[in-house]
Amino acid sequence: MKLESIKEIKGTIRVLTGLHIGAGKESLEIGGLDQPIIKHPITSEPYIPGSSIKGKMRSLLEVSRFAGQRDETRKHVLEDGAPCACASPECPACVIFGTSAANKGDDLGPTRLIVRDAHLSQQWQEKFQKNELTMEVKYENIIHRIKGTAEHPRPLERVPSGVEFSFNLSFKVFENDAENLIEEVYRGLRLIELDALGGNSSRGCGQVVFENLTCDGKEVSLEGYSL
Ligand SMILES: [Zn+2]
Repeated sequence: MKLESIKEIKGTIRVLTGLHIGAGKESLEIGGLDQPIIKHPITSEPYIPGSSIKGKMRSLLEVSRFAGQRDETRKHVLEDGAPCACASPECPACVIFGTSAANKGDDLGPTRLIVRDAHLSQQWQEKFQKNELTMEVKYENIIHRIKGTAEHPRPLERVPSGVEFSFNLSFKVFENDAENLIEEVYRGLRLIELDALGGNSSRGCGQVVFENLTCDGKEVSLEGYSL
């Protein structure tokens, strides 16, 4: 399998509604928020793990691809909620994101897509370092069904709207790969815009847009990509 090129896709992720990517319970500080966001361990800057972007792209692409199909793979993804593991060379998800399914994935060659962690853009990094960017704390309540009052407030930490992260992806093209394979990556990004990143999205968190998108320096528009 001959590697023909490695394409570099770059851009900005702009947060439209507060973004909550949870840090997990093991990083809980005493007296801290019970729902903190993930932060760089040394600089304390918020960031978006590449795995969050990649995982969301993959799951949205799979759900859109398998919607309407009626076979075992469809059941696996849409009913069991598991990642596709069909390992078919015709399956964009398995080719782009890889699969370890009983080593069947070996025939597909290496995973095509690398999604790097997205860090604050330079402008926002400077603001953060000058203490001009603080994280937002949103209180979520449960409404008492009879009294109509808000109860059990839980503080949820979020990256405020307007903040920008720089992101970059690397995409490998092998000899004999479908020519439009990279378009699935663009479609995955567009599906994230239509859906959300991070947690609590059904309650309004995590709407984002990808801006200033380029592939090897050439402008890319996500307009026109959809389900
Ligand atoms: Zn598959």
